[in-house]
Amino acid sequence: MLTVLIFIAALALLGQAFIGLTFFVSCIWEGEKRATVFAGLQFSGMLALAVVFLFLTGAGLFETDIGLTFLVGGLVLGAIASFLLMRRTAANLRALEGTRGLIIGNVKRHDEREIVFARNRSIRPSSEQYRVFYREHPEYEEYDAKRREKGGPLGHPGTIDTPNEGLNVAAALASLSIPIYLSTPDKVEPETHPEMRGKKINLSPEEATERTKGYTKTLGADLVGIAEINPLWIYSHRGEIFYENWEDWGKEIEVRHRYAVVFAVEMSFEMVGTGPHTPTMIESMRNYAKGAHIATQLASFIANLGYSATASHLRHYEAVLVPMAVDAGLGELGRLGYLITKEFGPRVRLGAVTTDLPLMPDKPVDMGVEDFCRICNKCAMCCPSNSIPLGDRAMCNGSLRWKLNAETCFEYWGGVGTDCNICMRVCPWSHARTFPHKVVVELVTRNRTSRRLFSFMDDIFYGKRPKPKAPPRWAQFNN
Ligand code: SF4
Ligand code: SF4
Repeated sequence: MLTVLIFIAALALLGQAFIGLTFFVSCIWEGEKRATVFAGLQFSGMLALAVVFLFLTGAGLFETDIGLTFLVGGLVLGAIASFLLMRRTAANLRALEGTRGLIIGNVKRHDEREIVFARNRSIRPSSEQYRVFYREHPEYEEYDAKRREKGGPLGHPGTIDTPNEGLNVAAALASLSIPIYLSTPDKVEPETHPEMRGKKINLSPEEATERTKGYTKTLGADLVGIAEINPLWIYSHRGEIFYENWEDWGKEIEVRHRYAVVFAVEMSFEMVGTGPHTPTMIESMRNYAKGAHIATQLASFIANLGYSATASHLRHYEAVLVPMAVDAGLGELGRLGYLITKEFGPRVRLGAVTTDLPLMPDKPVDMGVEDFCRICNKCAMCCPSNSIPLGDRAMCNGSLRWKLNAETCFEYWGGVGTDCNICMRVCPWSHARTFPHKVVVELVTRNRTSRRLFSFMDDIFYGKRPKPKAPPRWAQFNN
């Protein structure tokens, strides 16, 4: 019996030292100096404990009464700690309902004309649209006029990486040209290819779902889910104009489709780690371009099957993508206003195709994000423009959520000349998915004890206000 107890204890101590070692190696690989020091200390402590245990075993300590008491006590404590960290606590039933679980009042469909990007990019002073919009929304006019004078986020003079931002801005703009190119009506609502016309292909929803998801992943998506469309998440009116199609501005958007294929592409941990510097903007634009490319081809694929399909991507949104992604089971809405996925945290960009092709909807998920965000607050503490609220969620346009202040966030983007991404960088869910981080994510999705412990440890290992990391050599902005 004693031999079995000693074997279990030795295995547990060596196991935790192994996990400590993987975390130490992971921190070096991540380029996290502070975390490397703490992980090194933690691993040394775990290893020392295992060595001392083996030494005491050899010295026969556990054959004495006091030694046996220590051994049994240690094993009981270890078993309790393991149970507390691994048990699965009650599910968050609201999260399992997706966005329907968050609706507590009247939700008005979002009007794209009111979005900060549309106001700043699409409404030109002295235009008819300017007159119409500010007559209905005088509250924005003065504020937007000042904002416009400062320029947009894409590397105007005076940015955070001035005077060496040119190369990175050039790369970001190169990617940005792809979604614009893919935003004309023939691309976002493709017609059936001439060779396939009149040959509607009948598929069962199961088969159509398998084909559609498989094709989306083959095109480069990292995650894909299907949502049955809640019409509230389709914009009510068009507000973004990119190729002088002014007749579309203010046009009502009909809800024509029943399903949405929603997908996410992973943003590089290394590039996001540099936020708010220019490499993070290259990464955002690269993934918007990738998303536009996937959405356009997917819409074309569905059109060739004989069904109607519309692509939603950076330069042509019909769908409000974050709530739709929640309904498609890709993740949960976090305090920072982005989708948080289990696989990559908020380090993703989204795209979608809405369609009348019958598909099998996925179910929303409960990963403990609501609970974790209540404990954590890190994004709100690190946001330089105080755009992310502290405290609990509140009702906003009929839904319960943390309301990001998009105005002050955009204002900060204009100041630094990038899309910032500090909140995405510091979020504990954003760590690279190395083995120890995968273990942590698995545990925090299970219970509150793990959420509390690992939120606290994240502050210890990475700091309450983690600093940006160095970019890869090719994307350096310092000479
Ligand atoms: S940083 Fe913390 S509070 Fe903010 S979204 Fe991530 S987990 Fe939630
Ligand atoms: S992108 Fe930057 S400014 Fe905007 S909410 Fe996140 S941290 Fe704040």
